[in-house]
Amino acid sequence: LRRTDAYRQCTLCKRYVDMWVNVVLENKEETVCFRCFLSYTLHETIRDLLRSGKEEDIKDAVRVLEGINDLVEDNPYVQGIRHVIDFWAHTYPKPVFIEDIKKTWFYKPNLEAVMNYLAEEQIFDLVTIGNNLAIKPGAILVNLLKLSTTNKKIYTDIVKAITGLATVRYLVEPSNPKLRYIYATLQAIRECIDNSIAFYEIKKYRCRKCEKEFATLHEIRLHIAKEHSYENLESGSKDFIEEVKGDIVGYLCKQNVFVEKAGVYGVHNLTKFLRSLITRGAIIAIESNEAVVEVNGEKYFVIDKSWIRVRERMRNLERRLIRQR
Ligand SMILES: [Zn+2]
Ligand SMILES: [Zn+2]
Repeated sequence: LRRTDAYRQCTLCKRYVDMWVNVVLENKEETVCFRCFLSYTLHETIRDLLRSGKEEDIKDAVRVLEGINDLVEDNPYVQGIRHVIDFWAHTYPKPVFIEDIKKTWFYKPNLEAVMNYLAEEQIFDLVTIGNNLAIKPGAILVNLLKLSTTNKKIYTDIVKAITGLATVRYLVEPSNPKLRYIYATLQAIRECIDNSIAFYEIKKYRCRKCEKEFATLHEIRLHIAKEHSYENLESGSKDFIEEVKGDIVGYLCKQNVFVEKAGVYGVHNLTKFLRSLITRGAIIAIESNEAVVEVNGEKYFVIDKSWIRVRERMRNLERRLIRQR
C-alpha cells in the first residue's frame, strides 16, 4: 500500500484517500483504498476456504471468523446481524419466520440488507411456509452443523463463525461503515508473518543436575529446593531447569505492532482494542496456555496458527491482484 501526498478516489467506496493501491479486479484495473482492498481479499479468502471441502481449511476459516466476531461484536451493525443468528439458534431446529424477527428489530442496519448478506453467504435460505417467509440453514451452515456434534456447540462456535462470515460480507459493501479493529488486526498480523517467531508448548521440565523430569514448573522448583538445596530459585532457576519443547502452538507477534497499526488505521480506543484481542482471545492461540509472553522485556501476543495461515493466503491473493509496473 502506498501512502502518498496525492489523494486518489477509490473506485469502490468513492472516498478520496491517501492510501490506495492499483489492483486488477475482474480483469479491470482499479484504484482502491486499503479498506476496500482488505475487505475484498478477506472475503475471497474465507469463501475459498469454506468451500474447499478440506476439513483443515474449514477449521482455519471458522477460527478466524470466530475471532472476527469476538473483535467487533459490540458494534451496532454487527449486533443486528447477530440478532438474526441468535433468533435462529434459539428456534432451531424449527424454522424462523421473518415476521417474528421484524417484531424484535431495533437495530441500526436495514433488516433486508442483513437478510441479503446471510442469503448470499449461504448461511440461510429463504423459504415460503404457507404464506409466510421463513429462513432455514443454507449450504454453508449445513456443512458447519455437520462438523459439530453437541447442541452447545451450535450456540457458541457456529453462532460466532456465521456472525463473523456475515460481518465479512458486510465489510465488502463499499457504502457500509468500516470496522477499524479488523483492518488494524489484519495488518499487524501481516507484518508479523515476515519475522514470525514460533512459540512451542512446554511438554515438561528437566532438572539439569539429575535429569529427572517434571510436569509443572512448581514441581521442579520444589524438587530443586529439596534435593539440591538451592534457595534462590528466581535468579538461579535457569541453571537448573531445562524446558522440553513440544509442538508449535502459535506464533509470537509484538504488542507494539498492534499499537502502531491501531494508530495507522484510526482505532479510537486503544485499551478496548487490546482487550478484545487478548481477553476475548480473538487472535490468541487456542492451544497455548499463555496469551501474552515477555521476551527481552518486550510483550508479545501468542497468535493462533489459523490466523497466520489465513492471513498468509490473503497476502498471496493481494500479491496476485496488485498491478506490477
Ligand atoms: Zn474504498
Ligand atoms: Zn534434580
